Amino acid sequence: MPSPLSAEFVRRLLAWYKIHHRRLPWRRTRNPYRIWISEVMLQQTTVEAVLPYYRRWLKQFPDLKTLARAPLSRVLKSWQGLGYYQRARNLRAAARRVVRDYSGRLPQSYKDLAGLPGVGPYTAAAVLSLAYGSAMPVVEANVRRVMMRLLRLRGRASAGLDKKLGEQLKNIIPPGQAGLFNQALMELGALVCRPASPRCLACPVAVFCLAYERGEQEVIPEPRKREIRRLTAVVAVIRRDGKVLIQKRPEKGLLAGLWEFPGGKLRPGETPQQALRREIKEELGIVLKSMTFLARVKHAYTKYVVDLHAFLAEPTEKPQLTSRRRWVRPAELRHYPFPSGSARIVDALDKLNRPQARKGRASGPALRS
Ligand code: SF4
Repeated sequence: MPSPLSAEFVRRLLAWYKIHHRRLPWRRTRNPYRIWISEVMLQQTTVEAVLPYYRRWLKQFPDLKTLARAPLSRVLKSWQGLGYYQRARNLRAAARRVVRDYSGRLPQSYKDLAGLPGVGPYTAAAVLSLAYGSAMPVVEANVRRVMMRLLRLRGRASAGLDKKLGEQLKNIIPPGQAGLFNQALMELGALVCRPASPRCLACPVAVFCLAYERGEQEVIPEPRKREIRRLTAVVAVIRRDGKVLIQKRPEKGLLAGLWEFPGGKLRPGETPQQALRREIKEELGIVLKSMTFLARVKHAYTKYVVDLHAFLAEPTEKPQLTSRRRWVRPAELRHYPFPSGSARIVDALDKLNRPQARKGRASGPALRS
């Protein structure tokens, strides 16, 4: 059986890639800033989901200096819905560092690049090989899976395994074609050697594949057991004088710096209404005199699946404002970055306030914006 670490393997892989690769905007550029943005967006996110974000981002932040100057809230707003918001915070922090320490140009040294906030070994290698053609292997999820199957490596992903694969791949990168080679391996993983149901019959390198030869392609790599936590939460859209109350999450931790409506998790045995009265009393020190159901939203982030109940609520008195709490008109909510679940509550509020929704609701819950 020919080796998956041979020149013939590389030749077949590149020949397949040249014909079958997806024409994506970040593949039409050698601009390191654009490649960096795409690589960060693509971590934990599909190509389809990234495309509109990528285009919008480059309109708002066409270069690294613009990103460095942008307020954090604008950057987070642009990222809203992509998840793992720390990536957006890191992009801005790294851009500021590059402006300060490297005259606004992404460094070409691996050590300097990998030392920027949020830029790990994988991203640094991807940017350097794709933008500058540096002979560096990129070992990310797709490449790792493809290589583990080709070489019939059992077990799970680990830093040690990535290092070993990186060393082996480095030896077969064709001169002057590092970017193409890395893209080809990643694309093979995305389109053919998929996590579930790999398309081995259509695979251009099946003849080199040890896992396929043994019929083990479905069990390599060992599936990861992911613990999903389910929780039910409730929030109040508190209204007063045509405005609603929102608050900013702490600058560190989960969903840091994003805005949300006050509320919290249900305790065992509580109804959403009981939980909301308790949470608002604990959090804001006020009593709700009425609440009307607004929306129920289910959404997932990191390892949580959240069932979120939202109510329009009237307080008996105004809660005390802090630097992290604000009254805003409903139309202004669009300017604030919210986590996906809260953004859908903003959508529900928006719908409620449209003229047709207000028809026949003379004393209903609509708000003026
Ligand atoms: S033959 Fe199947 S398992 Fe092997 S590399 Fe190709 S798609 Fe992946």
